[in-house]
Amino acid sequence: MAQRPDPVSFAASPQKNTGKILKLSSQIQYVKGVGPKLGALFSKHGITTVRDLLEFYPRAYEDRRAARNILSLREDETVSLVATVANVYQLALGRSQRKMYDILLKDSSGAIHCKFFRTPYRGYFERFQRGTEVRVIGKVINYRNRLEFHHPELRPLSEESETEEQQDQLIPIYIEIEGLASSKMRKIIQSAFESLQPSELKIDYLPESIRKSHQMMSWDEAMQSIHAPEIEGLSAEEVRNFLEGKSRAHQRLKYDEFFWLEVYLATRKSEFAKEQSLPIPQDQEAMNLAVQGLPFELTGDQSKVLAEIQQDLANPHPMNRLVQGDVGSGKTIVSFLAALQVVKAGYQVALMAPTEILAEQHARNARKFFENHGIQIGFLAGKTKTSERNALSEKLQNGEVSVLIGTHALIEDDVIFRQLALVIVDEQHRFGVNQRAKLKAKGMSPHFLVMTATPIPRTLAMTVYGDLDVSVMRELPKGRSPIQTRVIYQSKRQQAVMFMIDQIKKGRQAYFVYPLVEESEKIDLKNAVEEYERLAHSHPEYRFDLLHGKMKPDEKDQVMDRFRRGETQILVSTTVIEVGVDVPNANIILIEHAERFGLSQLHQLRGRVGRGQHKSFCILIMGHAVSEESKDRCAIMEKTTDGFEVAEHDLEIRGPGQFLGTRQSGLTGFKLAHLIRDQDIMMKARNDAFQLVKVDPDLNREENQKIKHELSRTNGAVSLAGVS
Ligand code: ADP
Ligand code: MG
Repeated sequence: MAQRPDPVSFAASPQKNTGKILKLSSQIQYVKGVGPKLGALFSKHGITTVRDLLEFYPRAYEDRRAARNILSLREDETVSLVATVANVYQLALGRSQRKMYDILLKDSSGAIHCKFFRTPYRGYFERFQRGTEVRVIGKVINYRNRLEFHHPELRPLSEESETEEQQDQLIPIYIEIEGLASSKMRKIIQSAFESLQPSELKIDYLPESIRKSHQMMSWDEAMQSIHAPEIEGLSAEEVRNFLEGKSRAHQRLKYDEFFWLEVYLATRKSEFAKEQSLPIPQDQEAMNLAVQGLPFELTGDQSKVLAEIQQDLANPHPMNRLVQGDVGSGKTIVSFLAALQVVKAGYQVALMAPTEILAEQHARNARKFFENHGIQIGFLAGKTKTSERNALSEKLQNGEVSVLIGTHALIEDDVIFRQLALVIVDEQHRFGVNQRAKLKAKGMSPHFLVMTATPIPRTLAMTVYGDLDVSVMRELPKGRSPIQTRVIYQSKRQQAVMFMIDQIKKGRQAYFVYPLVEESEKIDLKNAVEEYERLAHSHPEYRFDLLHGKMKPDEKDQVMDRFRRGETQILVSTTVIEVGVDVPNANIILIEHAERFGLSQLHQLRGRVGRGQHKSFCILIMGHAVSEESKDRCAIMEKTTDGFEVAEHDLEIRGPGQFLGTRQSGLTGFKLAHLIRDQDIMMKARNDAFQLVKVDPDLNREENQKIKHELSRTNGAVSLAGVS
């Protein structure tokens, strides 16, 4: 990170004598005890300014007054304690090369396992021999009714050199970066405080009124307190709050993290509201007629969401709506009906799908639906020939084609519409947001409808999609019975196949899914192909087909066509069928190596069945040597078919960053707050922020100037991958 040094730090001003010369924005190398070399190390971890340093919050506290022993540990506490290494185990993880380390610690009161699923750095475990006295710092986890540590911080006591600490304090413990001991970190942070210009600390960007209404600490009080708790005069409960990360200082700083994000989202939302777009008049009569023409009755949720969309469309400002509907809840028809209304008003619609298979399926259904109404559909994907593309382009420009369906080729290319008023994005929520930005850059503001079957718990959705309106569809169409899910081991595989054959005999169809994992894609593909051949060979009386991502688009189409028409009975496939594919007569899905899939993915795959009147089944086949975690995952699938519940579990297991696939760029704005555990603080901050922006949308009021300023600083930091 080649940032220029802050000039203030060089200033040979009179202030220098007081030693209080640093600003929050000063480079960290000018903090006493840091220097260029350590400064460079810090910046590798994203800590470049004094402010970053102050925001490097303690991971835990050690209560030196009450030495902890293993017996006293409780679930969910983050603790620090001293113990002795009793044993070091190495276990292979599954079939892979990876190893798990398990270090058993003992003290006079008991024993506890420390598990490491990856090695922090080369030589890490070599430091721990039997008998080594160590300090362990970490969160106590209840895993299958046993308390353990997962990835705790562990270091030989001999590497500690902190004799000067007072004995009657809460000592903050920092995550060790680049081998920098916690005690050193404490000193650096303290000297940063000492060298800051006093006015720097006094800047509290939060409006006084908000701070008072929640009786929150001031920013500088909170900062000092979190890094150096004064426990004199604190009640036992207040001390416990520190240990649990719930002290007043924690509350204030967590609130801030949420507040800046929410103000950002609120201002973005008010920006959208200012954009102009084509209002689509509601034609209820035509809509009712179209609904009556459907071969089924809409569910209550479908009607509700349709009404919400109609209302949005009637506005002269762009709709920006996310429809979250569990797999099979019938999102497609809702989007078609919305599109119909737009076309009837004389405008055009684009519908984007993430895969060609899904785009094809939509085009096929759309033709059936729209051509009844005398409306022409266009299809555009990567494979579309140039000549066809040109012809299509002309029809789009003269308005002959009203609905264009395809993959993202549809907006990426120089496709020119006569008057595009609605963009529908299926199964790719983040994609939708990016496309929106792209269109806006081209000076277009169509209405936006994004559909996803990845249910996100409500509070998380509010934060991640804080600037979108969210509609939820939970209800499944009438006559569906819940999919029955079973987890089995390889040994029972033959029985599962026989069960599948039984369903085929009854006239149903089946999916047989093989995973494709990147690192061993070739081998996996070979497995899928071999399995297909083996099955086809041993059951010559049934018709099998094979589908995988390496096939040409036309081949894929043909395979899907045959399956859709019922010509093929069993489709052996990789995960290319994961999203959206809809063949209601298929009622059983077998998933091989289910342990390799994440929960949300399993739920999506399972959603390929249970789409019709027939009782449906999902069989998860587990490989050998499966980790406990994978077993738990599969067990959750057995327990529930509710996508929202599955998502909650997934979120718990993987944490918000991974869950949203934003580990790199997203959600790193949160250094202290936790999206799930701190929901109540988030709600407070959200209400305050939205209220504030409602009253003063452009933040022009005098009392909001500090906020405006701070917002321009934090924009980058808080922007989530999903919304930026
Ligand atoms: P998803 O929400 O997963 O995208 P689809 O839109 O593909 O679901 O719909 C799943 C299946 O349910 C389709 O075959 C569709 O025709 C059918 N369907 C949709 N709405 C209803 C309804 N109200 N009653 C019965 N079947 C419906
Ligand atoms: Mg769908």
